[in-house]
Amino acid sequence: MTGVTERMVVVGGDAAGMSAASQAKRLAGDKLEVLAFERGAHSSYSACGIPYWVAGDVSDGERLVARTPEAHRANGIDLRMLTDVESIDLQAGTVAVRDLASGRRYRESFDHLVLATGAVPVRPPLPGGDAAGVFGVQTLDDGAALLAGLERLRPRRAVVMGGGYIGVEMAEALARRQVAVTVVDQAPQPMSTLDPDMGELVHQAMEQLGIDVHTDTAVTGFDTDGDGRVRSVRTTDGPVQADLVVLGLGVRPNTTLANQAGLPLGDHGGIRTDLQMRVLGHDQVWAGGDCVEVLNLVSGQYQHVPLGTHANKHGRVIGHNIGGSYATFPGVVGTAVSKVYNLEIARTGLRERDAENSGFGYVTVTVRSGTRAAYFPGTQRLTVKMIAERHTGRLLGAQIVGNEGSAKRIDTAATALWNHMTVEEMTALDLAYAPPFSPVWDPILVAARQASAAVRAAP
Ligand SMILES: Cc1cc2nc3c(=O)[nH]c(=O)nc-3n(C[C@H](O)[C@H](O)[C@H](O)COP(=O)(O)OP(=O)(O)OC[C@H]3O[C@@H](n4cnc5c(N)ncnc54)[C@H](O)[C@@H]3O)c2cc1C
Repeated sequence: MTGVTERMVVVGGDAAGMSAASQAKRLAGDKLEVLAFERGAHSSYSACGIPYWVAGDVSDGERLVARTPEAHRANGIDLRMLTDVESIDLQAGTVAVRDLASGRRYRESFDHLVLATGAVPVRPPLPGGDAAGVFGVQTLDDGAALLAGLERLRPRRAVVMGGGYIGVEMAEALARRQVAVTVVDQAPQPMSTLDPDMGELVHQAMEQLGIDVHTDTAVTGFDTDGDGRVRSVRTTDGPVQADLVVLGLGVRPNTTLANQAGLPLGDHGGIRTDLQMRVLGHDQVWAGGDCVEVLNLVSGQYQHVPLGTHANKHGRVIGHNIGGSYATFPGVVGTAVSKVYNLEIARTGLRERDAENSGFGYVTVTVRSGTRAAYFPGTQRLTVKMIAERHTGRLLGAQIVGNEGSAKRIDTAATALWNHMTVEEMTALDLAYAPPFSPVWDPILVAARQASAAVRAAP
């Protein structure tokens, strides 16, 4: 290659890594050689789509692949699949890699190294945890294995371990395949990213949808039959019969390589970076996606927030900075959305317990409203909870649980949070109104009005 002045090496061929590679290559062109390593068989795919693939909304796993290795290569990126990066030598500026097909080991040098190694699923070492019929849902291969398992085992009953958003989405996916589903969660309510009062709404709705939910319950092991196949899940609440188990217990940052290389990790186990996503104290090394910690702009504290929306932005920022431009990732406000059947669940900012832990004095309001004008056909019910700082009235957080047309209203609150707005300022927001889309006072405005009144009334 002629005219190459720098070499970028990327570890991890999914959202953060390939966004970084693509952006840098677009900006720098032939001046930058881009080499990317992915130990798996898929590049740039949407794990977010796995529950919808299992449910049958998406016909084929290949449809979840946004860009194939061939497409990346056609864009000038030397993407090497089924290749594991085994170690980093920061002094020498090299990585040691192994071609998993041939076993061949070799080294490659870098001017810029991007760590986009993602996260690893939490798998507690429970007796029987490796039984046939126990599935994770982290990768496309996991999705394919689960679908094959559903065909092969024809389960009648399934347990989903974990009532976070992945557990809840997987519960719907399995229930829609005519499997009787029990969700088991240690927390007092499912969706512990919400306050318990809002989680309770999710709990009630799931039960009404026919999904059994066991809260305050820990899984202690799995019982198998003579063939080593899971038959029931042992819990602190007694056994729950299951022919199939899905693990949705969350993830932790995958930082084995970073740790071995002595790169700085934060309190939540993620790599620490500066605003440009450069690893603290290491000019040549960048990191983004599920392997890093991010600053919560509301609490001012670092967190691990493993979401694709952030991974893609991190990749873009890294790509800009390596490609000769400039970009920053200031942090997150904690926005997330999911659904179970037509119940939509959204949150942004701080929960009550986060506000307390951060030392904020606060007020909360909860309003019930509709998604359209009350007289308009098809209006759906929704509940909005809003949290504001006492005295100042600064918005601290919002949560929404409701039927179709509810959840994306959270984006208004997320934007208000981003801009440090008070709930009084929010009452004047010029939000769109027509009867098919909203009541004349949008539910976010109703909540802001009540929160503003609560702030004024607070001692
Ligand atoms: C079921 C499910 C549903 C989800 N739904 C949503 C959603 O609705 N919204 C949302 O925002 N997010 C969602 N997410 C999260 C989202 O998928 C992740 O945040 C995103 O994929 C993170 O991208 P990443 O590039 O940081 O890491 P990953 O996607 O994990 O990619 C990291 C890659 O690095 C590779 N790798 C690791 N170590 C090495 C090594 N040493 N050598 C070579 N390769 C290596 C791995 O094989 C992997 O392919 C969901 C996740 C799951 C599992």
